[in-house]
Amino acid sequence: MAEFSKTEQDYLKAIYQLQQSQETADELVGVTDIANYLKVSAPSATEMIKRLAKKDLIEHKKYYGVCLKSEGYKEARFILKSHRVWETFLVAKAGYDLDEVHAEAENLEHSSSRKLIERLHALMAYPATDPHGSEIPQEHFWQDEIIQLSLTAASVMVGERYEVRALTAAVREFLSELELSEPKFITLLSILADGSFVVKTDDNARFVIPHFQKKDWQVNYYK
Ligand SMILES: [Zn+2]
Repeated sequence: MAEFSKTEQDYLKAIYQLQQSQETADELVGVTDIANYLKVSAPSATEMIKRLAKKDLIEHKKYYGVCLKSEGYKEARFILKSHRVWETFLVAKAGYDLDEVHAEAENLEHSSSRKLIERLHALMAYPATDPHGSEIPQEHFWQDEIIQLSLTAASVMVGERYEVRALTAAVREFLSELELSEPKFITLLSILADGSFVVKTDDNARFVIPHFQKKDWQVNYYK
């Protein structure tokens, strides 16, 4: 995978944001607009744009402006996701105030791997918006895989519905003793004092997943 510098990422994000703010998103963005947006001089914007075009991240039509090509678009969406996942995480999990998070996210967005961002997003059960109400891109940027977690590691909330991705042989045996078929989805109904889960399947079959067995259930949050 291509590596991007912080400056390149800031330009791609700026072009994306400017494109989005236009009436039609495929319209070209002027170099002056980019320079103003990033508070840099026009010559340095021009120089950077040439570099991004050379890397095939954007298309530069002289005198008309620029637009993102597919790799540049993808990277811009990733940086946006990184920024917004961090803002969400800082408010939801780290006790930050809403007005403190933007500055932190501006730095964190560049230093986070795709794996880290997808893990954080999954751990928070794939929020669709950040605390400011902006859309968090939902596409996966890491190995194009849905992240599986064990029921022990998943963030647990009563009412949460999980997609069952993989079960151990012990769980399959346990289910067949209960005369249950392997469920595709389970919803957490309550948590018992010893940590065991009372769950139901989509067919309304209810059963208890013993605490010690939760590690054997690989699940994915289901939206
Ligand atoms: Zn922000």
